[in-house]
Amino acid sequence: MHADERQAVLILGGTTEGYALAGTLAPLAGLRVVSSLAGRTASPRHPPGELRIGGFGGAAGLAAYLPAERIAAVIDATHPFAARMGWNAAEACRDAGVPLLRLERPAWTQVPGDRWEEVDDWDEAARTLAARARRVLLALGRQELAPFAGLDDIWFLIRSVDAPDPLPPFAQAEVKLARGPFTLDDERDLLRTHGIDTLVCKNSGGTATDAKLAAARLLGVRVVMRRRPVRPALPTVATVAAAVAWLLPRTPPRSIGPSN
Ligand code: NAP
Repeated sequence: MHADERQAVLILGGTTEGYALAGTLAPLAGLRVVSSLAGRTASPRHPPGELRIGGFGGAAGLAAYLPAERIAAVIDATHPFAARMGWNAAEACRDAGVPLLRLERPAWTQVPGDRWEEVDDWDEAARTLAARARRVLLALGRQELAPFAGLDDIWFLIRSVDAPDPLPPFAQAEVKLARGPFTLDDERDLLRTHGIDTLVCKNSGGTATDAKLAAARLLGVRVVMRRRPVRPALPTVATVAAAVAWLLPRTPPRSIGPSN
C-alpha cells in the first residue's frame, strides 16, 4: 500500500490533454496526481506531479495497481488510437471499483474543399495509395510504417518524432524528424517543397497537428484518413475543465484546495 495518505488520481497520458490535466491538478493541495506513460517516446515531456513509465501488465496488472497506489479515480486521457489501454482501463476500473472518465478530443471532420478517403486500417490505406499516389507524406507513428514499405513505385516522406528503428525496407523514402505543433505555413511549405500528392494520417483530432489538413485543402492534396478505433462506452468529456469538474466531487472535500 502506498504510504501517501492523500487521495490519488491516475492520469493515463501520452497526450497534450493528459499533460494539461496534470498541470491543472498537481497544484491542488491534498491530491496526489500520478501520470502514466507507456514509454514509447525517448524523451517525453515530464508532466507536473508524479510520473510512472511503462505498461501495467494488462488489465489485471492495472487492477492490482489501483488499490496498491490508493487510486481514487482514473482519467483515461490516452490518444484516441491507444485503444488497448482504453479497454484495459475499463476492465481494471470495473474490477477494482474505481471510477473512470475518458478525456478525448473530438475527431476531425471534413469541411468543404477537403479530399479525404477514410480507411479502417493501414493495409486499406496502402491499397488506396497503390491505386493512385506518387509522392506521399506519411504522418503516423514510427511503428506503423511496415504496410507501406512494399509500395516501390511511390516516394515517401516519413515524418515522426523519433527515428524509425528499424526503418522498414522502403524503395524510396526520406525521414524527417519533427515534433508538432506545426503551423499552416510550415505544412504548406513541406507539402509544396516535396511535391506531395497524398497525405496519410489518422484522425487524432485537436489543434496541435491539424494544420496539415488545412494545408492539404489549400493545395488540393488528397488525404487518406484512418478512422478511430472503437473504445469502451464510458462517461466522456472533451476538455480538461470538464475532467476537473468530474474529478473534484470524487475526491474528499478536505483534499482540495490551493497549495502553499
Ligand atoms: P495501446 O495500444 O492502447 O496500448 C498498448 C499497451 O501499452 C497497453 O496495453 C499498456 O501496456 C501500455 N500503455 C499504453 N498507454 C499507456 C499509458 N498511458 N501508461 C502505461 N501503459 C500504457 O497504446 P499505443 O497506441 O501503443 O500508445 C501508447 C501511448 O502513446 C499511449 O499512452 C498514448 O496516449 C500515446 N500515444 C499514442 C498515439 C497513437 O497514435 N497510438 C499517438 C500519440 C500518443 P500494459 O498492457 O502492459 O499495461
